Amino acid sequence: MASNLSENTAIRFLTNIQIPAKAYSEAKSELQLKFKKEPSPGDVAWSVLNDSILECSHEKNYQKLSSVYYSMALLLDKEGKDAFTIRQQSAKWGLHRYLAAGLVQDVQILSARDSCPQCKKLEGKVFPLEEALQKLPVPSRACSRPLHQKTRGFCRCTYVAVV
Ligand SMILES: [Zn+2]
Repeated sequence: MASNLSENTAIRFLTNIQIPAKAYSEAKSELQLKFKKEPSPGDVAWSVLNDSILECSHEKNYQKLSSVYYSMALLLDKEGKDAFTIRQQSAKWGLHRYLAAGLVQDVQILSARDSCPQCKKLEGKVFPLEEALQKLPVPSRACSRPLHQKTRGFCRCTYVAVV
């Protein structure tokens, strides 16, 4: 992955979700050995996040899985790439966490204070959990609030359990 990310920024994508900075330096050494050249910070962070995806899947830690995908999406967006399908993965595993817990019937969409008008329309809507998983109403393709890029929307809408 081509990258213009600084090393500190790349490390922050990891430490923000409780992955220690040490994982970054270890992955950097590994990639350096493998490719015989210094890997870009974005590549190193991506590799650590990928490892974390495998680990969380294995442990069936869906909440963490959702966070790791979210961090990947932020990283992609920051690097000017389309993050939509990765954001969907994040949403999907966030919902799977509720499914696995077995206590949640419905989920409600929560938008952020600074969400775009399109996402605001979804604010407060309630879906049966299974339907939310099938349709994934958020993230929305119609989202218009950019994060790092001018052309793609990236609101922080999420699902909360209705209790
Ligand atoms: Zn939006």
